[in-house]
Amino acid sequence: MFKRILSLILATILCFGICSCGNIQKNYSKTYLNVFDTATTISGYFNSEEQFENCAEKIIVFLEKYHKMFDIYNNYDKMNNIKTINDNAGVKPVEVDSEIINLLEFSKKVYNLTDGAVNVCAGPLIAKWKLSLEKGEIPNSSEIENANELNSISNLVVDKNNNTVFLKQKGCSIDVGAVAKGFVGEKVKIFAKSIGFEKGIINLGGNVVTIGTKPNGNKFSVGIANPDDTTKNLYTVNVSDESVVTSGDYERFYEIDGVKYNHIINPKTYFPAKNNKSVTIISNDVALADALSTALFIMDYNDGLKLINSIENCEAVVVDADSKVHFSKEFKKYLELED
Ligand code: ADP
Ligand code: MG
Repeated sequence: MFKRILSLILATILCFGICSCGNIQKNYSKTYLNVFDTATTISGYFNSEEQFENCAEKIIVFLEKYHKMFDIYNNYDKMNNIKTINDNAGVKPVEVDSEIINLLEFSKKVYNLTDGAVNVCAGPLIAKWKLSLEKGEIPNSSEIENANELNSISNLVVDKNNNTVFLKQKGCSIDVGAVAKGFVGEKVKIFAKSIGFEKGIINLGGNVVTIGTKPNGNKFSVGIANPDDTTKNLYTVNVSDESVVTSGDYERFYEIDGVKYNHIINPKTYFPAKNNKSVTIISNDVALADALSTALFIMDYNDGLKLINSIENCEAVVVDADSKVHFSKEFKKYLELED
């Protein structure tokens, strides 16, 4: 009897605890198509739809600012962006926002870390492939190799003191497609928390940034697509305050004479990467995860996983060209079921 009364009192206290603030958090979600030429989905747990909308709106305004700065295709009024740097290749240094300097400094580090696999100066090579594939053609080898000397990272001169960037040769161009979304993901994570976005997921075109946990304390489950059948998940990983980033050959590719050519170019072969079908990286640093997912997609899985195993707080799963799956040392901890 005493036990029953005690449990009744406890239940009342517990119920009061939850109900007194009147705040049962619900999940709200919204998708935007206006930044980084991809879909951005913001979903979070909030006390009201109004609170969510307010936060999501601020986040998308924040992302728009970065989208414009890192745009390689369009110029904007009263703003020097990456396109302005490319337009002035071989002409003059361009004064830019310090965030562009930070992105390019980060990109140089990534170049060294990945032994040149991720090279933001490979703009001419990437553009050549894009243009040819869109016409259903394969560029001839002399065209690609001619573009090669323009792709050297040494053409990129970043002057931190004067906030300027200069591409030394005419015809050079920067392509930040492999690193920009992750770099911005890291920024938006901090911004989102600062405006009260405490639990949720921001998915920047496949760069999945998780913030906190679900209201019940459980981690978020993120699906990793099977590259051979993208309607199915290969794995579901459980993460909190970590990011999950995938580079794959199944979303952006062209098929010519039965051969698939994807959008990630191996700077060493001058050809689209073909060692792997997909790579997923999990890390608490989404900028690094984005850069490394592109790098491992290019590299042989053995070399790639060796690199991952040497980096703290970073795990990977690689599906190679034969659909064989390879894990980094501790990846499997993310597959464990929660109790
Ligand atoms: P996605 O942008 O599809 O999520 P990635 O993060 O892997 O995938 O980046 C791919 C993009 O990176 C390409 O569309 C291209 O703009 C750029 N890119 C392709 N190959 C390279 C490379 N070797 N180094 C740097 N950037 C690359
Ligand atoms: Mg990437």
